Amino acid sequence: MALRVAVIGGGWYGCHMGLSLKGLGFDVQIFERHDRLLNEASGNNQFRLHLGFHYARHHGTRLQSRDGFMRFMERYPNLSREVAENIYAVPREDSLIDFPTYRLVMTASGLEFRELRENSAGLRGVDGMLLTGERVLLIERARQYFKQNLDGVLHLGTEVESVESVGAHVVVNGEPFDYLIDCTWGHRGGLPIRFFYEPTILLYYECDVPFPAVTMVDGPLCSVYPTEDPNIYTLSSVPHTPLGRFDSSAEARAARDAVTGHVVAEKCAAMEDQISRYLPDFRDRFRFLGPQLAIKTKPVGKFDDRSCYVFRRGRVFTVMSGKIDTIFFAVERVLSFIEAGAGDYSEFGGSLLRQEIAAAAGGER
Ligand SMILES: Cc1cc2nc3c(=O)[nH]c(=O)nc-3n(C[C@H](O)[C@H](O)[C@H](O)COP(=O)(O)OP(=O)(O)OC[C@H]3O[C@@H](n4cnc5c(N)ncnc54)[C@H](O)[C@@H]3O)c2cc1C
Repeated sequence: MALRVAVIGGGWYGCHMGLSLKGLGFDVQIFERHDRLLNEASGNNQFRLHLGFHYARHHGTRLQSRDGFMRFMERYPNLSREVAENIYAVPREDSLIDFPTYRLVMTASGLEFRELRENSAGLRGVDGMLLTGERVLLIERARQYFKQNLDGVLHLGTEVESVESVGAHVVVNGEPFDYLIDCTWGHRGGLPIRFFYEPTILLYYECDVPFPAVTMVDGPLCSVYPTEDPNIYTLSSVPHTPLGRFDSSAEARAARDAVTGHVVAEKCAAMEDQISRYLPDFRDRFRFLGPQLAIKTKPVGKFDDRSCYVFRRGRVFTVMSGKIDTIFFAVERVLSFIEAGAGDYSEFGGSLLRQEIAAAAGGER
């Protein structure tokens, strides 16, 4: 009989996890509390299919992105589109890294790019620029694709309120499963790492003529990135996008939901000032459309680690999402855990270190 698996969350991770396990013959059920898929961070972000160029300070994230990008293109060829001119620029005065070092890091990571001498964006004050092949995620198409392909296993508008381990089962909202996979990006807690919740604000802008994607790296910088709509762009800023730092999901949601028009106006002014340092005619070219609000779950640390982790406690697996390109890594980790067996840490390959230390100490005496 097929193993029964419950997945909590209908973001990119839950959808891809559910679809992959269903394809492998598992009896999967996905629970999403909203009435539509990709309603939280997965549908409210910068929509960038990363290749790794964002992460000069984290090797693991670059490698996961580089590989994830290729796999995404194979698995979901119709869920992203190319960007005609996608520029990563290192500003001369504000970057934490100089351009030759940045270029060297990307070369050493096996990322393909072309060095740019001139650009059609009118960028100023840069030490150097790379042209990359990163793409834009097509979010509405992804919603439709997953909804269609997960027909029969999807429970929209269904919040998971109770999870209990009972014998060889995990009981989810009163229903027994063999395994539970938590794809809520830590919103049910239970991540065994130091992390925090960060509500965020990005700004949507309209531009009548095609404009390149422009990302300033590395450090407290900003970017303009296209969306699935050819005339709409997001403006994001490392110092101005965060709306606070919280220990609980409830506090982060309250802060996100309390954002006023005044806060939006202040963020607009600050983010437009920042981008205008490099694109002096930004305000002439772009018209503000509205804010985009979301919540990030971030590990504590300054290296910008955005790699994906999967943790296991008995029959419950918790996914700490990286970027969207790392969905494949999450599925592989879950499968290898399932293949390894059903036990808890203690009963399954628990640490023998104490016994070894005791034996060694005994042997020396
Ligand atoms: C501002 C911003 C910009 C970003 N830019 C990019 C980018 O350009 N490229 C990129 O790759 N990544 C980007 N990211 C990161 C990316 O959005 C996340 O890595 C990804 O969306 C996480 O997906 P997820 O499925 O793990 O989580 P989510 O999309 O948050 O999905 C979790 C789901 O779980 C559901 N849920 C929670 N609790 C329960 C419950 N008890 N019962 C039922 N359902 C529940 C929620 O409703 C939600 O739908 C960005 C994130 C933010 C916030």
